Amino acid sequence: MPDPVLSRFAPAPTGFLHLGHVLNAIYVWGVTGARGGRVLLRIEDHDRQRSRAEYERAILDDLDWLGFRSPEPLVRQSERHAVYESALARLRADGLVYACECSRSEISAAGKSGSELRYPGTCSGKGLPERPGLGTRVRLAPSIERFEDLAHSVCEQQPSAQCGDLLVRDREGNWTYQFVATIDDFEQSVTLVIRGDDLLASTGRQIQLARLLGRTAPPRFLHHTLIMKTPTQKLSKSDGDTGVRDSRARGWTAPQVIGHAALLAGLIDRPHDVAASRVSSLF
Ligand code: GLU
Repeated sequence: MPDPVLSRFAPAPTGFLHLGHVLNAIYVWGVTGARGGRVLLRIEDHDRQRSRAEYERAILDDLDWLGFRSPEPLVRQSERHAVYESALARLRADGLVYACECSRSEISAAGKSGSELRYPGTCSGKGLPERPGLGTRVRLAPSIERFEDLAHSVCEQQPSAQCGDLLVRDREGNWTYQFVATIDDFEQSVTLVIRGDDLLASTGRQIQLARLLGRTAPPRFLHHTLIMKTPTQKLSKSDGDTGVRDSRARGWTAPQVIGHAALLAGLIDRPHDVAASRVSSLF
């Protein structure tokens, strides 16, 4: 466990909070609190087409209602453009950045690596000038990234084979999650990234990117199980029936909602209320 523990809760304001977020909050505040650490709150509104101020307001209100609070200043990715530009400039100076004109359908046609699309490097030698309307990619080395996840033990990933050269800004001009989350975790000195298993495959690429940006010691990672809608289907923000808003409207209390998420995830073995102030006792 890193010392001191500094973690973050980083929702994207593209929908309302659902039980999956509640479970992530239980882990983030629970594991961090059990080690006397601190939690930062970061709004991951890098996708300017999908992010909405009303979702941000609802997320912050639901978090406060649940009792998951941070005394640290709130960070919004949409206000950190200059930070991301300057990180990109450092990578560009190292010759690692190129413009990409490929569409998603062209990349899908080139095939997948496992369940994800792998960019085959089509534009890496074209020398296209960077300009609005083109994507921006960072060249990845074919290295294998080895890390010890606190829940999965030792993992090895080869990002260049999984996803190929990393998209850092899309053709619409949005910074990508992989790029900005890695920069923010570095700049904010986050030492423990706690998130769902659906992001485990992103870890190697974030470790490599952080190294390219000059981070000498990557954060530690803990990827936790997800609450599934069915054995093969994840909960999604469009599942209104699992939204915190709906539970509130139906008269649930915050400890009931937290207890329900903890039970579904197997953190407790019989139904009972769990207050946000008590989640560290689960770890
Ligand atoms: N913004 C991501 C989400 O809402 C969280 C990513 C992370 O914790 O690294 O799923």
